[in-house]
Amino acid sequence: MPSIFTKIINGEIPCYKIAEDEDNFAFLDINPNSKGHTLCVPKKEVDKLSDLDEESYTKLMAFSRKVGKAIEASVPCKRVGMTVIGLEVPHVHVHLIPLHTMKNATF
Ligand code: 5GP
Repeated sequence: MPSIFTKIINGEIPCYKIAEDEDNFAFLDINPNSKGHTLCVPKKEVDKLSDLDEESYTKLMAFSRKVGKAIEASVPCKRVGMTVIGLEVPHVHVHLIPLHTMKNATF
């Protein structure tokens, strides 16, 4: 059965799309840690980061860095944190989370 992220990529489940290229897709997290929290997902469904082939891994990281830079330029924040968790959805994804000081926190 396709993962929930494959359904999002295929347009079967709605999302707020941020970016896509040939291999990867970025959209806002439905339950964000902060405003602008984005997920970057390879279009090819692979469970864990360690299962990705080298080329797909490199492309996902490059795509995520590019999307992270765009978020940093458009969402007021100290920096954008980049992490891989994967406890909930078995389709590898990078979390991009705008981080704030307590002074300018928006959440
Ligand atoms: P993880 O697998 O890294 O532990 O967490 C999965 C992330 O995917 C969570 O932050 C969760 O809010 C997000 N998520 C789960 N289902 C959906 C969905 O249907 N749409 C969107 N946009 N995000 C989702």
